[in-house]
Amino acid sequence: MHANEIKARWMTFLEENSDIGALALNWPEQRSLVVSFRELYNFDQDFAEILVNNPNLFLKCGDNGLREICKEKNYQINPQIRVRDLPPDQRRAVREIRQDDVGSMLAIDAIVVKISAVRPRVVEAAFRCCNGNCEAIQMVYQSNEQELIEPIICDPNTGCGAEKPQARFEIVPSQSVMENTQFIELQEPPEKLRGGVQPERLRCLIEGEIAGEILPGDRIVANGELFVRSQKKGGKKTSVFDIFLRVNSYEQRNTPFEDVKISVEDENEIKELSFREDIYDLLIRSIAPSIFGYNNVKESLLLQVFGGVARRNPDGTRQRGDMHILLMGDPGTAKSQLLHYMSELSPRGQYTSGRSASAAGLTAAAVPDSSSDGRWTLEAGALPLADTGLASIDEFDKMNDGDRSSIHEAMEQQTISISKAGINAKLRTRCSILAASNPKGGRFLHPDEAGPYTRQVNLPPPLFSRFDVIWLMADTPGEEYDRKIASHILANRQTGVDEFSIEQGNEVDPMLDPTKESTKDHEGKEVLSREMFRKYVAYAKRNHHPVLNDHARKRIIDYYTTMRGKVTDSADNLEKGKDVITITARALEALSRMTEASAKVRLSDIAEEEDVRRALRLFENWRHELMGDNFDETSIQSGKTAASRNLQSRVIKIIDEIYEATRTHATTLQILEATRAEGFDDDRVIGYLEQAKNAGNLFAPGGYGTWQSA
Ligand code: ADP
Ligand code: MG
Repeated sequence: MHANEIKARWMTFLEENSDIGALALNWPEQRSLVVSFRELYNFDQDFAEILVNNPNLFLKCGDNGLREICKEKNYQINPQIRVRDLPPDQRRAVREIRQDDVGSMLAIDAIVVKISAVRPRVVEAAFRCCNGNCEAIQMVYQSNEQELIEPIICDPNTGCGAEKPQARFEIVPSQSVMENTQFIELQEPPEKLRGGVQPERLRCLIEGEIAGEILPGDRIVANGELFVRSQKKGGKKTSVFDIFLRVNSYEQRNTPFEDVKISVEDENEIKELSFREDIYDLLIRSIAPSIFGYNNVKESLLLQVFGGVARRNPDGTRQRGDMHILLMGDPGTAKSQLLHYMSELSPRGQYTSGRSASAAGLTAAAVPDSSSDGRWTLEAGALPLADTGLASIDEFDKMNDGDRSSIHEAMEQQTISISKAGINAKLRTRCSILAASNPKGGRFLHPDEAGPYTRQVNLPPPLFSRFDVIWLMADTPGEEYDRKIASHILANRQTGVDEFSIEQGNEVDPMLDPTKESTKDHEGKEVLSREMFRKYVAYAKRNHHPVLNDHARKRIIDYYTTMRGKVTDSADNLEKGKDVITITARALEALSRMTEASAKVRLSDIAEEEDVRRALRLFENWRHELMGDNFDETSIQSGKTAASRNLQSRVIKIIDEIYEATRTHATTLQILEATRAEGFDDDRVIGYLEQAKNAGNLFAPGGYGTWQSA
């Protein structure tokens, strides 16, 4: 079909199928007309096919046709056509792109990993002839964003007709047509990558009003034409080419769990499962059956996969529904194994290490990038890429400093705000985090020796309060347990299929063959297949958003007030200076999330008392393991133990009392006498005095040796 014919077909199509009046009305908020490929196909099959093989011509004719209609109707607008909903045979994953796709229209299913700043580019440059006083203006269409094409000759019809190299032209920006442009980079979604494959990336050029709309971490289908540009070396073109996608339109794919397909039979099976008495046990058993024990840990992981309900409040605040879990443990306690397992089990799960090789780390990084014309680019780290899924982060304590500063926001508000070099963006990190960390010293020591467990890992204290559940996984020898675990691990080695045979093709990979996936664990008890588990979770998350009923709410409130009361009620405790705070308001939210998750497990829309009971059991359990009977939330958060906070308040009190009684400043000796009587160690007290002086909490007015409180 000839260009004029294509334009004529377009005009017929547009007049029959689209409301150009509405477009004119909404201009300039709406700058393009979105057309579905399906409509084009229904209108004229042969016509629509041209888009697939010659998108550049097809779309340009469409734009011209549209603008002609606008002119006829006297609309002062300059809109553009964008085509979406491409046919399935034009769909590609990034790694499937081949050289013969160049020049055709493709739909790339991917995640956005990087965006550049938005900058204007000249699409139609106005050149003024500088020959004598000719000054004729000539418009030149600019097809390539890498170079500026000048006219060769001044048009003899409108100007002097001078030719290059004598003729000289200068660009007139005010009369040129500019458009916003942006580079983005697409990558295969992380959960589709298996076995540490380096993901392939595709660079895209976005032009027009859709530049700047997409964020790193967004899942999109990018529709556009694949084109090549020769690579440059030292300013010269080489024979090697880079592939780009010129994005014409895109479709958002941020709805979670739509990647898990559930058939009608599946749905029936899921509902049947949910009625079973032993549904919790069945699901817990189905989590990492090859890992022995850790039933509490697995139960919390189960709740995490289901998650609570995220809620938006009328005042604009948001409460996250995702639960975060931290596994602190000795080496060799199957933490990494559990993390790997969960990242594969949960929909959109992914595994990363805090010591990630990528510059973007866990959160995001803004860096100048040579492949985007040296513009600043924003690259998403692991958390934005795990948006609406689960991020398993191993070696959480090894994260870099940039991550440390933005991880709090990423975990609680579930956003990362970036404002740097022309890029202002708020990336979304609506994922649950399963983190693992080893102790600083290689092994956990008893708290009496080395301070609270939370101080034995290299994480800033406020970060602990962002976790709903923190498990201590200590590797303590015990004969019965050791024997069980040993026989369990050895049994694993017997049932696994040997890899050599799989690679030789003599055996089937048990991961790939669903019939080989055991539906029995080592004790012969039934477990769910991974696939069924994922479907169950996706179904629950899509269809159930439980609310706590009155009983459940009352139960949590009662628990909270009782625990708080244990502190304030007991004057005795205060007298002894045991100002241990057992629970803070943050825990209330954690409890609600766990309660909601528990209701979701049985596909219920109402969270009841039994759900609260499950949440409380887990809650008390992890706190007991971590902190013993006197769990002390403020010690987790501030990093000070109750005793040392107590020392501080005692010393200040002593100083004040002495001053009240004698009107002179307390001496170090007087303070030591008083604290010694209360059982404090002299060295600690002197250490504290020194530290308090440096921090400005105490003064030493008469030089060293006398003290005054601030
Ligand atoms: P970590 O990350 O805690 O240092 P790993 O996950 O690397 O430990 O586990 C070390 C090895 O010990 C793995 O092969 C794991 O399967 C095994 N292992 C440790 N504890 C268990 C357990 N409870 N059940 C099964 N295997 C275990
Ligand atoms: Mg490990």
